[in-house]
Amino acid sequence: MSSYVPTIAAMAFERRASRPVMVGDVQVGGEAPISVQSMTTTKTADVDATLSQVYALRGAGADIVRITCNDAEAAQGLAEIVPRSPVPIIADIHYQYRLALAALEAGVAGLRLNPGNIRKEEHIKAVARAAADAGVSIRVGVNAGSLDKDLLEEFGAPVPEALVRSAQKEIHYLEDVGFYDIKISVKHSTVPRMVESYRLLAEQVDYPLHLGVTEAGPPPGGLIKSVAGISTLLLEGIGDTIRFSLTADPVEEAKAGRQLLEYLGLRERTGLDLIACPSCGRADVDVIKVAEEATAAFEAANLPIQVAIMGCIVNGPGEAREADIGIAAGRGKGHLFIKGQVVRVVPEDEMVAALLDEAERLVEEGVEARLAAADVSAADLAEEARIELLDLQGDANQAAERRANVAEIATGEPE
Ligand code: SF4
Repeated sequence: MSSYVPTIAAMAFERRASRPVMVGDVQVGGEAPISVQSMTTTKTADVDATLSQVYALRGAGADIVRITCNDAEAAQGLAEIVPRSPVPIIADIHYQYRLALAALEAGVAGLRLNPGNIRKEEHIKAVARAAADAGVSIRVGVNAGSLDKDLLEEFGAPVPEALVRSAQKEIHYLEDVGFYDIKISVKHSTVPRMVESYRLLAEQVDYPLHLGVTEAGPPPGGLIKSVAGISTLLLEGIGDTIRFSLTADPVEEAKAGRQLLEYLGLRERTGLDLIACPSCGRADVDVIKVAEEATAAFEAANLPIQVAIMGCIVNGPGEAREADIGIAAGRGKGHLFIKGQVVRVVPEDEMVAALLDEAERLVEEGVEARLAAADVSAADLAEEARIELLDLQGDANQAAERRANVAEIATGEPE
């Protein structure tokens, strides 16, 4: 059992109160941690391929997976997928309300209905009644690109008010038949409009909100848009479950969603958090290459730890003292440090292997034990290397020279 426990950063904001809704055994809203969703890209009728992707998504951090239910074969596929899935499955429904009924029969844990394309009130109510009987929640999934035509005409464009009105209309149909296990999304492909839509919606309802920037596109642009929109809202306390809609392998979506929540301190760290200096003229090693090697080694080892790769011993350990563990290069050596304290000095070509070895011990034994086991000469060796580098390269800020120049300009006299 590991004695090393990563901590969650204290939330510096108040989370919007939302009512809890269950998706299978995953609670969304209320006090539940923000969950990560993704969606398969396989043909649902291909049960093995879809299940294999569901498992990959689970491995990458997805708590809930959505699967399209676009025809009868897909609905039949769901009947085989659901009982073998490691996570709750949501069926994505467009146009044909009968496919929602079929998906419920297949045992899904949730439905996503698009109000823009299932428009008959009696159909929506029939689905809500069947979902209530099955104990299944529904996401009202409004999308700017497929907004109800009447609303598009009324507002002239998929503006935030139109998206929220569409959601409200659908919610009223569901509430009319006593259905309240509702989540809502109002996704837009333009980040400011997406943010504004959710802010508006959050003022009007207490249902949990599913956040996403729709059709964000391929990385890196898609990642940046998703992070910008989703983070803005999460840091305002808005949002209960998230999805990155990337034009990429969905595993990338799940991984990015999970990482975002971990970086914001909203989920416990389960994987690597690599920090690395950007490198500069002082670097004594190829920082990009070492960072890539370390990322590969640590991801393979799957350690929940923050690791720093720093290009020089002059500033490295000090600047990265918040990291659990790190390494700073200098004079052909790697100076391995824990919480900023140098504990071992290793040859430069063994840096990554030594870092991984020490990290495994750190996770196993804890910080105090590893600091107690430090090589007593390591800190002195690091200080020697630091002074040697400073002598060679000079003071990074050239402080003495600058002070003289500033004084000369200020007084008109050479110092
Ligand atoms: Fe430059 Fe050293 Fe800072 Fe990296 S740690 S950016 S190499 S001064």
